[in-house]
Order: sequence, then C-alpha cells, then structure tokens
Amino acid sequence: MEILIVEDEKQIVELIRTSLEAEGYRCLSASNGLDALKVFRSRQPDILLLDIGLPGQLTGLEVCTRIRQEPGVNPFIIMLTARICEIDRIIGYSSGADDYISKPFSPKELAVRLRAVVGRRDRGKRVQGRKNEILSPHFIIDLDARQVMMQKGVKLELVTDLSTVEFDVLVLLASEKGRVRTREELLDLLKGLDFVGDMRAIDGIIYRLRKKISPDGDREKFIKTHFGIGYSFKDEREEVAINEASDITSTKTFTR
Ligand code: CA
Repeated sequence: MEILIVEDEKQIVELIRTSLEAEGYRCLSASNGLDALKVFRSRQPDILLLDIGLPGQLTGLEVCTRIRQEPGVNPFIIMLTARICEIDRIIGYSSGADDYISKPFSPKELAVRLRAVVGRRDRGKRVQGRKNEILSPHFIIDLDARQVMMQKGVKLELVTDLSTVEFDVLVLLASEKGRVRTREELLDLLKGLDFVGDMRAIDGIIYRLRKKISPDGDREKFIKTHFGIGYSFKDEREEVAINEASDITSTKTFTR
C-alpha cells in the first residue's frame, strides 16, 4: 500500500512517515495542493492523508474534489484537520473524503483509522463485487466516494449531511432491498466497522437517516420498520411525469 501524505508541516510529515513505514506502508509526500496532484497523477497512491489547511492555490478540500473527478484509481482520502467543527466534516464528506482525523493525533490512532478504512473498502468490495455503486430507483450510492445521490423531482441531489455510521447503515440496508435486518444484525455489522454503541443507538441512527433521506416527512418511504424485529429498505420506481424537460440528463442517469 502506498500512501501520499499532503501536509505543509515537515515535522508532522516525518512523524507520520516514520510510524506508517514501521507499519509496512510506503510513503510519498507533498507540501502543497499542486504538488499533491502531480504526485497523485504520476504514482497513483492507494491512500491520501490530506491536510485541509495547505499553503498555495489549492486547499485540501479542493485537492480532494479534483482527485474525485479524475478518471482511473479512486484512492482512500483521509482529511487531516486542526478544526474539529462539524461543518468541516460535512464539507469534507461532500467533497469526497472517506474519513477524518483531527490534529493532534497519535501515530497509533492514525494506524488504527487506516486499518479501519482499508478494511471497510475491502468488505464493501466483497459484497458488491466489481461494482462500487448501489443503484436504486431513488438513489445512487457511491461506495468509493461514500456519497449518496438522491432523486428530488426530476433532479439528482447530493445528500450532504449523512454521518459515517448513517451512510454505513444505508449501505447495509440498501445493498439487499427488502431483506429485513434485525437490530442485533445491524449492530454486529456496524461493530465490524468499528462502531461503538448499543441497540438503542440503532434506532437513533435510523431516525436521523430517515429525516435526511425523507425530507417530505414520509418516514416509511424508504426504510420500513418491522416491529420488534428490525428494518428493511424499500425503494420502488414511480411514474414520474416529466413536464419540464429541464433535467433530462440526470433522469437518464437514473433509469439506466
Ligand atoms: Ca497545514
């Protein structure tokens, strides 16, 4: 595994490099956004550790967005941030980051996070085979970028405010439409993804997830409750009358 460390503080780069090389990773580094893109294009690393606050023309978020738009390999991107503000997390995920780690962090914490993120992708691949998208009448769930696009009228919109665990639950349910997952099952699956919590947390996650993907207030529209058992995902195709020919392209994307 090759890791590109994008960070302008030399001391932090060296600290990360030493600890990751001890774990068997190969490390590259870049100290600004433009260099990061250059190294990324020539070496195609598996993972990027990307500082948000970079000197020069491109911020870490812009580097992240650009890399997600590039064809070819789709690396893991972990943002490094000194700011722990929730809004940063939201912007980071919507620009395509897979995970976040707040400075200061210990080398051990970083190593654990890396293992979790890599394991998550491997598991996702095994479930989905070569496809890294779940397609459903109202949703496109991109497992690599960890992004959800949702149909609103005839348009596709990015769901920007899903937390890591809400995304994981949506993927677990939507990957097998109609299959009822018990709370115990969901909790076990999440624990495999390094989630810490209990059964009541599952109901809380479902509650918040529903609010975010069912803005019209129809709670059961996509996630059905099976009382005393658990939850399932349902998503049926609807006849959509397209009167305004405004956004035919995204409708096409949807019905492929
Ligand atoms: Ca910095």
